[in-house]
Amino acid sequence: MAKFQGVDYYSIDGLLSEEELLARNTIREFVDESILPIIEKHNRAGTFPLDLVPKMAGLGMFGATLPPKYGCAGMNNVAYGLVMQELERGDSAIRSFASVQSALVMYPIFTFGSDKQKDMWLPKLATGEKIGCFGLTEPDFGSNPGGMITRAVETPDGYVLNGAKMWITNGTIADVAVVWAKLNGVVTGFLVEKGTRGFSAPEMRGKHSLRASVTSELIFEDVHIPKESRLPGGTGLKLPLSCLSQARYGIAWGAVGAAMACYDAALNYARTRIQFDKPIASFQLTQMRLVHMVTEITKAQLLCLQLGRLKDAGKARFQQVSLAKRNNVYHALEIAREARGILGANGILDEYPVMRHAANLESVITYEGTHEMHTLIVGEDITGIPAYA
Ligand SMILES: Cc1cc2nc3c(=O)[nH]c(=O)nc-3n(C[C@H](O)[C@H](O)[C@H](O)COP(=O)(O)OP(=O)(O)OC[C@H]3O[C@@H](n4cnc5c(N)ncnc54)[C@H](O)[C@@H]3O)c2cc1C
Repeated sequence: MAKFQGVDYYSIDGLLSEEELLARNTIREFVDESILPIIEKHNRAGTFPLDLVPKMAGLGMFGATLPPKYGCAGMNNVAYGLVMQELERGDSAIRSFASVQSALVMYPIFTFGSDKQKDMWLPKLATGEKIGCFGLTEPDFGSNPGGMITRAVETPDGYVLNGAKMWITNGTIADVAVVWAKLNGVVTGFLVEKGTRGFSAPEMRGKHSLRASVTSELIFEDVHIPKESRLPGGTGLKLPLSCLSQARYGIAWGAVGAAMACYDAALNYARTRIQFDKPIASFQLTQMRLVHMVTEITKAQLLCLQLGRLKDAGKARFQQVSLAKRNNVYHALEIAREARGILGANGILDEYPVMRHAANLESVITYEGTHEMHTLIVGEDITGIPAYA
């Protein structure tokens, strides 16, 4: 297959700094050399390529925007976004791993953790020596996490946790879980280590989407944890929601990567596939589909870039992140389906990346806030009227 040349219809590369381009190009190469050759095998087997973790860490992608003091790369948000874009061009499962480790585990420890928790966990999470997961969703509480049942009760020497989480990325392979539970009725964050008595994390099987990602239940049965394992920097649902906002930012970029992979595959195929004695790219209907794809990719790229610039200036609002996640994932999924159509029967084969991306994006449009929840977030922002219940 021809080497990926990027999709840059509006010369957006010209708006990027040298550091940002370097970060993007480094991960682009990593994806070509280390992810694309192995991803179909893992997707088929339903396994995550754990052996890639040290290499990913070496490229600075875990906690990439956090300070070098903890062994992190200290990138700006645009460079981090470009890293997520390239990773998801490889596969949403690989980007999900990096998103969870960075935005849902390292970010809350950095933002709400004690100095001791930061010193203990951040350097090891940055090197990939330790893996983390984020437990918010429960079997009966997804879009409405505030209703969670998982409870923490204070004891003289710490806390006892009871409850269950579901759909937790990296759960089974995680050394530490950032767990959200109600303490005296208030959502509070705890760090629960693998191997703690009463804590188990069985893997969920049977997924048709994000197959190369580990997804797990977290079960807490009278789990005793010490006082120091609580995140001391605040309480309330706004804490986990602020972590999700970090992760959604990365997803907005990541979706562009998945869309670019599908567009690239469709364009190359359309140029070479002959029907009625002509390449199918010569038919007006095919051109219309390709033009729609490149238009939506270009719009999504510009959305991400401006969102990243706002974030670097400390001005990005969570509602703006919602708009970008909502738009970019929706259009990436639409592009994946269109690309599948252009490839005809070949579109369903794993010789091409399209069907894998389409299936993955079905998860991406649901997790980190469903498409509908982001609609309601932006709807409330522009009207001033909440419409959730
Ligand atoms: C592969 C995968 C990995 C995941 N990883 C994690 C993780 O690491 N950590 C974690 O905590 N969670 C994780 N999740 C869970 C994910 O965040 C939830 O699935 C998501 O929040 C939606 O919850 P739900 O599936 O329970 O759907 P529900 O909340 O039951 O929603 C079902 C449908 O109803 C709609 N709906 C709900 N409420 C409203 C409303 N008020 N108005 C209109 N429509 C509404 C939704 O939009 C959706 O279409 C993951 C999920 C998947 C699929």
